[in-house]
Amino acid sequence: MGTILFSDIVFGPIKSRRLGSSLGVNLLPRHGKWCNFDCLYCECGFNKDGKQDKEIPGKEMVLNALREKIAELVKDNTAVDSITFSGNGEPTMHPDFPEILEGTLLLRNNLIPSAKVSVLTNGSILGNEAVANALLKADNPIIKIDSANEETISLLNRPNFKYSLSETVDLLKKFRHRFVLQTMFLRGEFQGKKIDNTTETEVALWQRLVLQIHPREIMIYTIDRETPASNLEKITVDEMKKISAPLLATGYKITISG
Ligand code: SF4
Repeated sequence: MGTILFSDIVFGPIKSRRLGSSLGVNLLPRHGKWCNFDCLYCECGFNKDGKQDKEIPGKEMVLNALREKIAELVKDNTAVDSITFSGNGEPTMHPDFPEILEGTLLLRNNLIPSAKVSVLTNGSILGNEAVANALLKADNPIIKIDSANEETISLLNRPNFKYSLSETVDLLKKFRHRFVLQTMFLRGEFQGKKIDNTTETEVALWQRLVLQIHPREIMIYTIDRETPASNLEKITVDEMKKISAPLLATGYKITISG
């Protein structure tokens, strides 16, 4: 099983399916993964395989690395569409995430004003006011909800805390029309249990959830690389088009990445 760990604090820019030329920022350990979910499809691997390294970079270290890299890219005329918090786990788990995001916005404004600031997050820390307020300042808070069924979330995303979908929906009220929803669609089996968030029931529940939480935009995607769980199956672009069609018809902006 091949996994991708980013050994630099700032990496890329890489060509992202969803964000264009994306300059990544990794606030997590550089030689291991740190997340409070343990998704079966996580490109960083399973949590159990990455717990040796627990060292996270300090705020100044991150902002200095970002400043240096942006200056280099500006000098070389390299385009950056997005400065993207992603990396080896869940970026909002970094204790200084709000301050780092503020510093990044300043750097962006001063050095590459046309770039967006994006955060790929599982939304698990929206209950922390400072984190939620920081996410609201980002251009693209991209919040993951893979299913409107808690049982599927527990099989697919495997939160290692007591996850509550209704609490998440409640916390998303202040994000109404101000966030991007990201959903991974796939099918498969893990430890003898079937996982499928593309069934008629799952899709109907997910569509209803979208209408309840009002994202500004939706990104749906499927597996792109090798996954830590071996029996997972990619779905087709046509299937994703079918899943998104009723929402597209109501005016939602939806990006499909197959
Ligand atoms: S939330 Fe993201 S980083 Fe965390 S396990 Fe899932 S895919 Fe990996």
